[in-house]
Amino acid sequence: MSAELFGTVGIVGIGLIGGSLARDLRTYGLARRIVGWNRTPAHAERALELELVDAIMPTPEALAEVSDLVVLAVPVNILAELLPRLLAKARPDQVFIDVGSTKKALADAVAGCPGRDRFVLCHPMAGTERSGPDAAVDNLFRGRFTLLVDTADSNPEAVAKVSALWEGVGSVLATMDAEEHDRTAALLSHMPHVLAYALARTIRVAERDQALNARFAGGGLASMTRIAHSPLSMWQPIFRQNKVFLLEAIDTFSEHLAAFRRAIAEDDAEALAKLMR
Ligand code: NAP
Repeated sequence: MSAELFGTVGIVGIGLIGGSLARDLRTYGLARRIVGWNRTPAHAERALELELVDAIMPTPEALAEVSDLVVLAVPVNILAELLPRLLAKARPDQVFIDVGSTKKALADAVAGCPGRDRFVLCHPMAGTERSGPDAAVDNLFRGRFTLLVDTADSNPEAVAKVSALWEGVGSVLATMDAEEHDRTAALLSHMPHVLAYALARTIRVAERDQALNARFAGGGLASMTRIAHSPLSMWQPIFRQNKVFLLEAIDTFSEHLAAFRRAIAEDDAEALAKLMR
């Protein structure tokens, strides 16, 4: 049991990440009370039923009003429109965090906003392909990095509390600026998702056009395409917001793929071995 860090924590978007954080906040005694908001009423009901939250609030604004810490766990395109509105009404004792997968667009969207210093940009490098309140699990963040971004633009006390929160759920902290974050995330997270979608699509089209029977697949295909089950509503905005670095990552990958193609086409065992080693 860690020491309580926050009175009321409000979570906007109780899905995989928001719900998993809620579970850990309780387990480790980091919050006295947890309230939530979901866009879909059935998901809000489910979050209550699963006891992820103590109460559901009618709007993100109403949630922010009663919360000491506001956690924004909605898709990245929604963050950029919601956060400036909430920060405009931030109290000097409140802290806001996001958990979004891209950072430069959000940092730009809140630059110069009133209340900007109450906000700490966070990206826990943990997740699964599942979504919604039923996807929430215990200890999702344990042993995983959480990247804190552009911390010089946040109030030092807010940064200290947010650091204690992530460490309290077992996460390891690293800091960087928004651009470095997006370049890093493009290679380590966003490109693997593009590749999984592309591979899954390759198989789907072959099923349709070449009567391929994908049921014969072994474990390799499943492990490479698991994350292609991730929701479109979350990943499409990530790909669009991280366009520049994602294109760089795809181009680099394409060069490596082309080298494999060449070695295979030319029966060049030595080149193939070199690439594989
Ligand atoms: P999730 O399980 O699908 O939850 C997304 C939440 O956002 C749900 O509560 C959903 O509400 C809400 N939402 C979706 N579209 C919305 C809209 N148009 N307006 C308002 N709310 C909307 O996804 P998640 O994995 O928790 O992702 C949440 C955040 O975490 C994203 O910013 C993502 O980039 C980030 N993240 C994800 C991972 C990962 O691997 N999954 C890892 C690190 C960070 P309803 O369910 O009520 O519709």
